Amino acid sequence: MTDDLSSSPNARIVQEIVESEIHAAVVAALDRDHDRMVSELIALTEIPAPPFAEEARARAYRDMLVQAGLKEVEIDAIGNVTGIRPGSGGGQKVIAISAHLDTVFPAGTNVTVRRDGDRLHAPGVGDNTRGLATILAYLRALDAAGVHTRSDILVLATVGEEGEGDLRGMRHFFSAGKYRDRVEALICLDGPTPAGTIVCGGTGSKRYKATFRGPGGHSFADFGIVNPMFAAAKTITELGRMALPSDPKTTCNPTVIGGGTSVNAIPSEVTLQVDLRSNSASALSELDAAFKTIVQASCHSENASRSTAKGEITAQLELIGDRPAGETAPGDLIDYARGAIAAFGEISSLGTFSTDANIAMSLGVPAITLTWGGTGGNAHTVEEWVDVERTSSVRGMTIGMTTLLAMTAVRRESA
Ligand SMILES: [Zn+2]
Repeated sequence: MTDDLSSSPNARIVQEIVESEIHAAVVAALDRDHDRMVSELIALTEIPAPPFAEEARARAYRDMLVQAGLKEVEIDAIGNVTGIRPGSGGGQKVIAISAHLDTVFPAGTNVTVRRDGDRLHAPGVGDNTRGLATILAYLRALDAAGVHTRSDILVLATVGEEGEGDLRGMRHFFSAGKYRDRVEALICLDGPTPAGTIVCGGTGSKRYKATFRGPGGHSFADFGIVNPMFAAAKTITELGRMALPSDPKTTCNPTVIGGGTSVNAIPSEVTLQVDLRSNSASALSELDAAFKTIVQASCHSENASRSTAKGEITAQLELIGDRPAGETAPGDLIDYARGAIAAFGEISSLGTFSTDANIAMSLGVPAITLTWGGTGGNAHTVEEWVDVERTSSVRGMTIGMTTLLAMTAVRRESA
C-alpha cells in the first residue's frame, strides 16, 4: 500500500474491516465451503454456454441463486440472471457483483472437467465459470457469518460478454434493465485476472465488416476493369501505415478476409473484417474516422486506376462490434480494492482491459474487474485450466469479498 493511501480514511475503513470479527467469520466460511465451491464450479462448467446460447446455464444459475436465498431472482429479457440480497438501507441503491455466463466455445465442444490434483481442466472453467462459482460462495459465506449489509447486493450473471456477444447482456442491463438507475457501483469477477490487478479502465473497440463490391468479370476478357480486391488490399496496406499512439494504447488490425469465386474471375465482392481498439474514447473515435476515410479513399483510388465502364467499386461498412472505452475515476471503489489487495500482502496495480465493466465505466458508474480467486491459464482455448488449491484460492476470493464488504457497509447480526 502506498503512503498516501494508507493514511487515507478509505484505507482505515478497509483496515478496520479486515481486522474485524465479521471479516474473520466470512473468510472462515469461504474456507469451510471451498469444496462445495469447487463442486459447483465443475457442475456449472459442464453445462455448455456457447455464444448466444447461454439459456441452460442461466436456468441452472437462477436455481442456485434461489437456493442461496436471494430475492427477486429472475432471468431478464435478454437472458441475464439477477437476484437481490437485501440490505437494511431501504433498497434504493444497489452494489452489483457480476460474472458472465457465456464462454467462447461453440456448441458441441467437450466441456467435461478433468481433475488433476488441484487443477481443473475444461473449456470455460476459468473464464468465466469460476466467477459464477465464486459469487455463490460469497453469498453462502455472508449468510454463514450472519452478515447484514446496508446496501442491497445485486447479483448479475450476464450473457454475451465474449466476442460477438459484444457485451449485450451488460448493455441491456444498463439501458433497459429494471436496475439500470440503481447501481451505485459494479464489481465484476472475471479472469484469470492476477490477484493484485484492479481493472479500472475499459478498452474500447469498434469492429467492422467492410464489403467491397464491383462489377466482376472474366479475368482475361474483362481485364482492366476495377477490382474490389485491389481496393480491399489498398485498405489493408493503408491501415498498416497508420501511426497509432502507444499511450493511450491504440491498435488496428485487419483480421478476416474473404471473397472471390474462382481463380479466373475478377471478384464482384470482397469482405474484410477490422478490429479497432483504444484505451481512450477520443483516440478510438479518431481511429474510427481515419478508418472510414481510408476505406473511401481506397475505393476512389481503384475507380481512378482502372475502367469503371462496367461499374464502380463501392464499400459498405457494417458495425459488428462496439464496446465503449471508459475509466473509473479514483474513489471509494478503487481505494477499497487497493486496500483489500494490500491487506493480503499483494502489490496492487491498475489495468485496462475489455470486460463487462466497460459499459458501466462509459456511463460514469464506478466499476472494476477483479480476480475470482486462484490462478488459471489458457483461457479461450480447449486447454483452459484453473488451480483450486484451497489456501491461495480463498486468499484471492477474499480480495473481492473485502471490497464488497467495504462498499456495502457491513455490520454483524449481533452488533
Ligand atoms: Zn471473461
